Amino acid sequence: MSARNSGVAGSIDELRLLVESAAARRPQLTTRLEKAAFLVLLRPIYPLDSDVWRVTAEDGLRFYTVRRGECECSDYLRHGPGHPCKHRLALFLHRALQAKRGCGKVAGVRKT
Ligand SMILES: [Zn+2]
Repeated sequence: MSARNSGVAGSIDELRLLVESAAARRPQLTTRLEKAAFLVLLRPIYPLDSDVWRVTAEDGLRFYTVRRGECECSDYLRHGPGHPCKHRLALFLHRALQAKRGCGKVAGVRKT
């Protein structure tokens, strides 16, 4: 609510808005999107190669590699190509957040 919107609180606001808009489009994904948001906030997600990402699991012990949109988790393998497992959703949220901030620090520019 204050002008301090460039730190963690600002990121959480942005993340919540992303989750809300994605869940509005696909309500059946709401719970999984919220789990994905948890991963984005609390677990490391980092690139290994071009379009190859490592997403740390909910337990913080394991990790999954998402290679060109294909995840290696059992949920994804069970449902098949295109399945929105929480790691793919986490990666989607992570990249959307990065895109919003133009991969750099954006001082809180806000219209009132
Ligand atoms: Zn997965």
